[in-house]
Amino acid sequence: MDEFERIAKLYAPLAAGFEGALGLKDDAAVISMAPGEDLVVTADALVAEVHFLPEDAPGLIARKALRCNLSDLAAKGATPFAYLQTTALPREWGDDWLGEYAAGLALDQREFGVHLIGGDSTETPGPATISITAFGRVAQSTAIRRAGAGVGDRVFVSGTLGDAALGLMAIYGRIAGLMAPDRAFLVDRYRLPQPRVSLGPRLVGIARSAVDVSDGAVADLGHVCEVSGVGAVLDFGRVPLSAAAAAALGRSADLLAPILTGGDDYEILFTAPPACAGAIAAIAQEIGIPITEIGYIIEGHGVQVRDGAGRIVELARTGYRHFRG
Ligand SMILES: [Mg+2]
Repeated sequence: MDEFERIAKLYAPLAAGFEGALGLKDDAAVISMAPGEDLVVTADALVAEVHFLPEDAPGLIARKALRCNLSDLAAKGATPFAYLQTTALPREWGDDWLGEYAAGLALDQREFGVHLIGGDSTETPGPATISITAFGRVAQSTAIRRAGAGVGDRVFVSGTLGDAALGLMAIYGRIAGLMAPDRAFLVDRYRLPQPRVSLGPRLVGIARSAVDVSDGAVADLGHVCEVSGVGAVLDFGRVPLSAAAAAALGRSADLLAPILTGGDDYEILFTAPPACAGAIAAIAQEIGIPITEIGYIIEGHGVQVRDGAGRIVELARTGYRHFRG
């Protein structure tokens, strides 16, 4: 297929239903915003050999690329509705690869209610690169920022932490004694993150700051502290773990560091005043996603990790952006 055939066959169907996409037949898309709404925008690029392997399933690559962006919008309290994508792919990847890739996007478009509204595609002699820019809506001036944490806030996180980091280690055979179902669970958490799009918008008016966990819980909480001008205590005894992660940690205490500093969980970590605890518990119940209090904001700077007995835990690394090998 040439570029125009690809657009017509693979991508135009992904734009159907979003009028401003103009059927992907124009130079640009048009986004209408209602009065009193803000547009929230984010972009993420994935590079082969850095963020994914060329032999990974194309549909999973597509979905992970989209989901990383949706997670960023969720952390702002925004509801996603559209995205642009630009791909630079090796010529030999061909139509079958692209067909599976587009099918992955179609699946997630249905799941998350978003549409492709434009972009570009080129060939490259270098590593494949996929860049997605996503758009969300939020009521004017209500988007949740990183720079809002206040002393006395409690720190909360959705879901469970560390699964993706352990999943990546499992792929490389670096965790001993994993049962097959636990391994499958952890690897899936790495390969196909669950952006918390149902949670983000419900935190508007409750969370004073928020971030999605992509660099690791300690690093991402550290980002919030830095821009908010505060410090934090993270109580490891309260960190929510999946059964698979808890079993792995039970066999090897060394996994504490990757659980707290590994990336790619795509949970939402946020701070809120203690008085909001009841409202947060009600949200967790409503959306069926656990939300756990894991620490609190203090004066100062940096993140202290403490164990269940209150002793400070030293971690070798406080986070790494994207890791492989
Ligand atoms: Mg983020």
